[in-house]
Amino acid sequence: MKETIDSLNPEQRAAVTQTLGPVLVLAGAGTGKTRVITVRIAYLISKGALPESILAMTFTNKAAGEMRERLAKLVGKKKASYVIASTFHSYCLRTLREYTEELGYPEGFTIADASDQLTILKLAMRELHIPEARVRIPDIQSKISLAKNRLDDPHAFLARAGDDSHELVGQIWLKYRDVLRRSRRLDFDDLLTETLRLLRTNEKVRTDLQTRHRYLLVDEYQDTNGVQFEIVKQLAGQQRNLCVVGDDDQSIYGWRGADVQKILSFGNHFPGAKIVKLETNYRSTAQILSAANRVIKNNPTRHDKTLRSAFGDGEPLMAIAMRDESVEAEQIVAEIKSLVQQGHSYSDFAILFRTAVQPRPFEAELRMKEVPYVLVGGMSFFDRKEVRDVLAYMRLVANPKDEASLLRIINSPPRGVGKTTIDRVLEFATEQGISAADAFDRAGEIPKINQKAVDAVLDLRARLSAVRKLHPHGEELVALSRRVVQEVAYEDEVKRLYPEETQFEKRWAAVEEVFNFAENYVKKRKRPGLLGFLNELSLSATDTDSAEDAARRQAVTLMTLHASKGLEYPRVYLVGLEEGVLPHQRAAIEDGVEEERRLAYVGITRAQKALTMTYCLERARGGQKIERHPSRFLLEVQGKAPPPGWIPAGAGDVTGEKAKKKRRGGKARGARR
Ligand code: ATP
Ligand code: MG
Repeated sequence: MKETIDSLNPEQRAAVTQTLGPVLVLAGAGTGKTRVITVRIAYLISKGALPESILAMTFTNKAAGEMRERLAKLVGKKKASYVIASTFHSYCLRTLREYTEELGYPEGFTIADASDQLTILKLAMRELHIPEARVRIPDIQSKISLAKNRLDDPHAFLARAGDDSHELVGQIWLKYRDVLRRSRRLDFDDLLTETLRLLRTNEKVRTDLQTRHRYLLVDEYQDTNGVQFEIVKQLAGQQRNLCVVGDDDQSIYGWRGADVQKILSFGNHFPGAKIVKLETNYRSTAQILSAANRVIKNNPTRHDKTLRSAFGDGEPLMAIAMRDESVEAEQIVAEIKSLVQQGHSYSDFAILFRTAVQPRPFEAELRMKEVPYVLVGGMSFFDRKEVRDVLAYMRLVANPKDEASLLRIINSPPRGVGKTTIDRVLEFATEQGISAADAFDRAGEIPKINQKAVDAVLDLRARLSAVRKLHPHGEELVALSRRVVQEVAYEDEVKRLYPEETQFEKRWAAVEEVFNFAENYVKKRKRPGLLGFLNELSLSATDTDSAEDAARRQAVTLMTLHASKGLEYPRVYLVGLEEGVLPHQRAAIEDGVEEERRLAYVGITRAQKALTMTYCLERARGGQKIERHPSRFLLEVQGKAPPPGWIPAGAGDVTGEKAKKKRRGGKARGARR
């Protein structure tokens, strides 16, 4: 332990060894904030704290995994395994599962993930007779989510309604909540708000949890939202053994309700807090840091801080104008290949971008050149139709009232249940205030109902309930999963859809993979059950393809700037540095440029040794080539004040006309700074 402590600088050490009372580490990127959290946990354990009394909140599952790995090295695998290191969502899930009685869901609940949420919103709108074309459902979803994370309530929300569209969101929200309740489901936001509700209203739960978690730690504190902050506050209770670390300059989730003021006013919320500032960056070369500083200092409302590199200048930064997005991909991939030939490893490289469409040309190029890569947060395994179908069936075993899942698989395999039948059943369900599943049971009361279709659904329900009886507590998870799939003849369905042998095998492999997941889950957990399995899967599916995978697979990492938070790579490409991309078009209109600038800062500060920034002179949009302009952030890196609004190409040295002529040929060249 002493060795570990000695490896810290004095300020880090102070944050680690002050174990009582609130501590805030407010410091720039790469200054060792996350390291403080990890070492502090090891230090607490060395001073006699029980590992299970330590709760560390991280931002992603990936970060939680990394923290556990780092901890295992410091305190040994066994002790590390007792420390709770998890995301807010996972922590809340485990809490709610423990207190299902208190929560009011004694039989348990299933999680509604983002795609279920859309289905449920559609159901809600159907009941309200709002045509789908009238609104953009994802917009409604994010508005409701934002309101929930700000601890709003649908009634209060409606009372404040100033216009029709606000009113509409409120109405849909109310109905959406009804559907969730009668389906015994919680969405991701509910995990947080329901945990907070328990903490606030149930003294037993509150005391239990406060006693259990003697030491709290929160990484990336600048991105906690209102609900998360309140949960932390409740858990900290009177003891307030709370250590949070963060960087206001890296607050990039304002659009999801995070509130950067929370970190700046930490001392007000937790009087007497020790506030530690770290100023040495141990990640990046001086050149990289100075670029980051030049960008971020343009944010008018920021709290200035010092950030200096522990290292020398290092390699010069590169800024390259590319003819278009395919040239951008070609040149970067070619450079990576040649550097790997010179001894670098593929996992040294990360390509960071702002929007979800940007990786496409890179993926194509990487594939063509046979370069291994991982797209973090890309189309996940869990988004495949077969996987979603099988999980829907399993959810119905665990929770027969789950409406979205029932409707998902009601005709897969085909059961002859038409739209009219579904409409009539749902209408009846709404009238009676019951779930769709119960409405099918009482279909005899519905006039003019297609009895054959109803019988098919009842037969399905009987089969699933038979499986449930065989495994009342969801034990023997693997056998159960196979049984469900067999019971509904899902294999025949896949064969019917994909009669061609290789096609079928590929599709079926996804189903087998679900069984493998179940098997692994059983190995990992002491009391593996169906509900636990399904719910943990819903959460882990949000960031599966992890960065560690990339390292293990010796692959280039492709990811969004948002996903890159907290990570570091020897060589980083920050691509598409164009007005309208970064800053994003929407942000430029909606006054979100400061948050976009913080995103750029996050991107730049991921780089350890080399940073290359690129932008395109043209980009294809809707079949046309559109002329592009370099991002104001690129000009800021170059130390040039950006003119207001968009910047015409040619305003900067490297990005100007001269460069344009040179790059048109497609040859990349470094720009020395
Ligand atoms: P971010 O703001 O990006 O999350 P951070 O402040 O959490 O960054 P860390 O990831 O903890 O920074 O540390 C950045 C790098 O510096 C890591 O590789 C870490 O091991 C290293 N590091 C941290 N503190 C020290 C130190 N005192 N001596 C040497 N290396 C250090
Ligand atoms: Mg960190």
